[in-house]
Order: sequence, then C-alpha cells, then structure tokens
Amino acid sequence: MQGLKVGIEIHQRLDSKAKLFCPCSTRMPQEERGIIRRKLKAVAGELGNVDPAALHELMRGREFLYHRYGSCLVEQDDEPPHQLNHEAFAISLQVAKLLGAHVPEEIHIMRKTVIDGSNTSGFQRTAIIALDGFIETSEGKVAIPTIGLEEEAAQIISRESGKVEYGLYGLCNAGKGSRAEARLAPEKR
Ligand SMILES: [Zn+2]
Repeated sequence: MQGLKVGIEIHQRLDSKAKLFCPCSTRMPQEERGIIRRKLKAVAGELGNVDPAALHELMRGREFLYHRYGSCLVEQDDEPPHQLNHEAFAISLQVAKLLGAHVPEEIHIMRKTVIDGSNTSGFQRTAIIALDGFIETSEGKVAIPTIGLEEEAAQIISRESGKVEYGLYGLCNAGKGSRAEARLAPEKR
C-alpha cells in the first residue's frame, strides 16, 4: 500500500526591473491614484464556447473594484501587451536549467481564464518554460514537472460580503504628462 502523495505549486515573484508585458517598474508605491470598477463579461472562446465558470460568475453580476497604486493601460486591459520582458524570461530559463528541466524549442504564451476578478481582463497570461525538472533533497529526488512564467495577479485588499477589492501596483514608466498618463486621470468615486 502506498502512502500519501502530495503535489504543490510554488509561486515566486521575479526581481526584474520591469513587469512581464509592459515597461512599468515592479516597485509597489503606496499612494492611491484612483479606482476602476469592472464587471466580468463572458464571451465565446476560440472554439465558440463560453466558459461555464465565467458564465456562472456573470450571472452573479459581481462588480470588482481595482485601487490603482500606479498601473498602466496594459495592466488595465486597455492596451495590447508589449513584448515579453527579456530579463524575466532569462531568469526563468536560468531557473529551469538549474533544476535540470527540458526547455522546449518553442514557448507560447497562453490565456488562462480567471473568473475571480484577480485580473482586469478576465484571463491571466502564462507560458510553460520548461518540463521534467528535479531537485535533490535529503529525502531523495523530488520531481518538478512544470516550470511556468506568468504575469502577476492583482492583490486582494479586502473581501467582505461578496465584494472583492483589488490593488494594481507598479510605476508607469511612460512619465507624467504623456498620453498614457493623461488617460489615467483618477476616477471619482
Ligand atoms: Zn505597465
């Protein structure tokens, strides 16, 4: 008879200068600069089907509040993502090599549906970087089947009676007075 077998998923923020899909800094400022209200809208995917979980969430009519501690149009899903951050990509490849994992010839960025509001767009961008790694421990070899590179989810600030509020962090490198900054004028409550 076999004993208990447990798999775990470990998330680690990378200490890169900029975010994964835009040039914003990864620093986390404390000053709030406005609030965005969003409702999730379920739409058909590439195969023409609506995600049942997203549809269920839509029926609940939930509204999500995002407190902006500095974030740009990319993070708010108002601008297409930029090229993948090379520094973060290099770090993830280094980790993969250190764990003896196999890096595939092609790496694709996928959209993972998220329905809890933890991303303004309703999905999270994620990429499989390497497969079949391992780490040696005092208890023996531990397999690390998958290593991924993923954009950060919004941080939960409060959660009470069905209402969830998130924080969007990061300093926009576009600079004050630029078109991007001007369009991000704080909303009134
Ligand atoms: Zn940004």
